Amino acid sequence: MSAKNPRNQYLRTDRMPHIWCPGCGLGTAVNCFISAIQADETPLDEISVVSGIGCTGRVAGYLKLDSFHTTHGRPIPFATGLKLANPKMKVVVFSGDGDLFAIGGNHFIHAARRNMNLTIICVNNFTYGMTGGQVTPSTPIDAISSTTPYGNIEEPFNLPFLADCSGAVYVARWTAFHVRQAARSMREAINKTGFSFVEIISPCPTLYGRRNKMGDGLKMMEAFRDSSVIMNGADTRNVELDFRGKVICGKFVDREKTSYLDMYNTKMAERFGPFYEPYEGVK
Ligand code: SF4
Repeated sequence: MSAKNPRNQYLRTDRMPHIWCPGCGLGTAVNCFISAIQADETPLDEISVVSGIGCTGRVAGYLKLDSFHTTHGRPIPFATGLKLANPKMKVVVFSGDGDLFAIGGNHFIHAARRNMNLTIICVNNFTYGMTGGQVTPSTPIDAISSTTPYGNIEEPFNLPFLADCSGAVYVARWTAFHVRQAARSMREAINKTGFSFVEIISPCPTLYGRRNKMGDGLKMMEAFRDSSVIMNGADTRNVELDFRGKVICGKFVDREKTSYLDMYNTKMAERFGPFYEPYEGVK
């Protein structure tokens, strides 16, 4: 990689080349995230990234931040501990649909319910890429995977609705085609006080696209472009994804609610009065 690449300061270039396949949307998602923190001018020692396991789980290893590649399904509890220990740190979980919503599904709904001060970025490629293309909780009905060779028969989660009804204060969805909107949403989510969620629909041409005859990464991106409809403020109950159907994108939820750390401050101040030193400036 060129030393003049302005993104290099955010990347562990000694880890390159990365493991991702040609046409994978993960590089685009990481690029959007770098744009978000660059625009935000967040000092790099005030933001940390936590990933679980899987293709998206590798993100933490490639970002030159305080980043943590944790165990399968557990980035949210890990990030919660990190935030509680260092409340001024902006803590971002960057992981995949299988990691966050199957193995880690329970952690997701409870962190959202608590309105824990975290940002969750989920790269949703509808499959477990790293382990061979199995069905995940977000695989659309009828989609082929290595474990649903005749088509998936399980109702998938509608991720924005799950985040919304679990208590998230910020919810957005974009595809890897919508780079500017995705970067803007990531920036807004990082600066939102409480639990924020951004879903990025991303091509996995190697295991999902190939099985479902969707072509290479470029063809999948063209399909996202042609099938997406931007509906900011849409009711999250109505943004479920169909196999080969339209993809409703936008910022769906942006509301105010007392965050976990604000609640904690209030309680501790009530209990200990002037002896309690509150966390301040916490997002
Ligand atoms: Fe990307 Fe899929 Fe390859 Fe994983 S298997 S790196 S998700 S294209």
